[in-house]
Amino acid sequence: MSEEYLDDEPDEEGHEEQDASDSRVEFNVAIKTDRDQFLRRTCPSCGRDFKTSIDPADIAWALIAHSKRMGLEIGTAPAGQEKAEPSQLLCPYCRHSADASEMHTEETINYLKRTVYRDYMVPMINKQFSDLEDSIGRNRGGGGSFLSVSVSFKHNPIPIPPRPIHGPEPADMKIVELLCCEKRIKIADAWTDVRECIYCRTPVTIV
Ligand SMILES: [Zn+2]
Ligand SMILES: [Zn+2]
Repeated sequence: MSEEYLDDEPDEEGHEEQDASDSRVEFNVAIKTDRDQFLRRTCPSCGRDFKTSIDPADIAWALIAHSKRMGLEIGTAPAGQEKAEPSQLLCPYCRHSADASEMHTEETINYLKRTVYRDYMVPMINKQFSDLEDSIGRNRGGGGSFLSVSVSFKHNPIPIPPRPIHGPEPADMKIVELLCCEKRIKIADAWTDVRECIYCRTPVTIV
């Protein structure tokens, strides 16, 4: 079994709480590849699966794209990856072209959504309610005023859901070498009609 961790540090119990008052949000993303280090992808046009090598910048872009779709304004890609433009990929079956960050499987998308919910949304909601609690607590009892109103407010924090799990990924499909880009992809075993490199569109023939 092989997997690739994109987070900087291994999970540490007790180190999981996000401080939402900090403007920096860290996501712990552990995307599973197959034992040949390939990540499964789905073409958004024809719905068929193929695989490419994993690209951390592409995962970061996909995470940002899905955060935005959830209505969150989460900054930019992690340090060192700001300039990495999302690269275009060509579907090896129908030749539909899309951003690499748009060509993820439903499983990967769901995993990223759950990660955003767990690592960002829940801590943010809890922080907002706890701030509200504090401000009501401070204003209570309005010393010296004629009318004294007591308001109590108690928010039960939303429990942090368990960390989502991605994978496992079986080592299926056949490997195709793209000599032009020195990259390898995996496509369905029965498929022989790859005409262009999915990265640079150089014509290819499968030998
Ligand atoms: Zn396709
Ligand atoms: Zn190429």
